Amino acid sequence: MIIGHEKQWDFLKRQLQNSRVPHAFLFSGEGKLGKRKVAFEFLKLLNCQNSDFSEKPCQVCQSCRALEKGAHPDFFLIKPEKTGIGISQIRQLAESLSLKSYFQWKTAVIDQACLMTAQAQNCLLKTLEEPSGKTCLILISEHPSLLFQTILSRVQEIKFFPVKKEKILDYLINQGIKKSEAQEIVELSSGRPGQAIEFLSNPEKLNEYKSRIKEFLLVFKGNLAQRFHYAKVLTAENENLKEVFDIWLNHLRQSMISKIKKKDFDDVLKMKKILEEIAEIQSLISQSNINKRLALETLFLRI
Ligand SMILES: [Zn+2]
Repeated sequence: MIIGHEKQWDFLKRQLQNSRVPHAFLFSGEGKLGKRKVAFEFLKLLNCQNSDFSEKPCQVCQSCRALEKGAHPDFFLIKPEKTGIGISQIRQLAESLSLKSYFQWKTAVIDQACLMTAQAQNCLLKTLEEPSGKTCLILISEHPSLLFQTILSRVQEIKFFPVKKEKILDYLINQGIKKSEAQEIVELSSGRPGQAIEFLSNPEKLNEYKSRIKEFLLVFKGNLAQRFHYAKVLTAENENLKEVFDIWLNHLRQSMISKIKKKDFDDVLKMKKILEEIAEIQSLISQSNINKRLALETLFLRI
């Protein structure tokens, strides 16, 4: 079930009804909004065997079930490996997409597409330039500006935005979650259904999220020695700091919204500056081999 994103979903369905499905889409927007979910449901819809369009994707036909299980012969999922998405992964994908389909459509998702290496992007370009038959490729990215312009000009972008809180709350309550718990999850998910579902299926994530915010607030109050100590601890225990940064950024955005509502604009400006500093360090860390601890220390000096 897709939570929210009605406009995007209706648009996608119309494209199919009007036989105007492009060879490649780009689903863009911040993390955990449910872009992947919509992509999977749309690709299910393309190959669904149900004869009634309004019932598609039916979730029960052979094709729908195979895709749900990750065992669909016409579906390919590309995910980043340790060093990103390499040219060999894209070459293999191009080859798989050129084979005859078992159902109707050959489909693929490239998750975190901006992590494709330059060679991989060039290789993908060839596939996009010479599309074959019923092929639908969905690129998913939080940072589409990192993709080559030549790729961006050959895909149809669909932007995703946070979903209304009530929609996530209704979903959680329908799942049998107590109202008070559901409300807490909704607040911390800030319009991102994917985040809410992660909290629901893994309560440890919810606790981690809360303690990361607590730590972040303590860092502000701490002196430089305490801040540097935290930088050391955090880099030692975290291979991937992206998730930690995402939690901080999300918390700051939420706090900014409530300050704006209270017309507390001095605080908003301060928070905006911190947010920009964190986003800058996050992008530096994700795009280069910069020393993470040093980067964090620099951040803690600036904020
Ligand atoms: Zn089906």
